Amino acid sequence: MSARRAKKNRARKRLKRAVARRDRGMQSRVGEVDHAQMRSFVFRRDGSRCRYCGSARKLTLDHVVPQAKGGTDHPSNLVACCGDCNDAKGNMSPQEWAVRVASFSKAATAAEGTGT
Ligand SMILES: [Zn+2]
Repeated sequence: MSARRAKKNRARKRLKRAVARRDRGMQSRVGEVDHAQMRSFVFRRDGSRCRYCGSARKLTLDHVVPQAKGGTDHPSNLVACCGDCNDAKGNMSPQEWAVRVASFSKAATAAEGTGT
């Protein structure tokens, strides 16, 4: 193998390694930043309160449609949710939970109407 060809080969390998490194780095960075940004975005949007009951305790991100049922990580499917609601929701059927959330929403709308 000529010296020139060997040099070209090394350069190609170096480039391949650099690209692999970059891809790995981008994947982990995007994953972390996206999750942190999504969290703070959803919490801010929902006023750092549980979207279901209004509590500010032990806030978590909740998938409205669970990921197991095809729900996405899109903000439209994410709400701030307190630990208690998250636990309660976990034990309820989607129908039961929908009824409960509807009652929360009515209460919240009524509270907003009085200006409190
Ligand atoms: Zn709650």
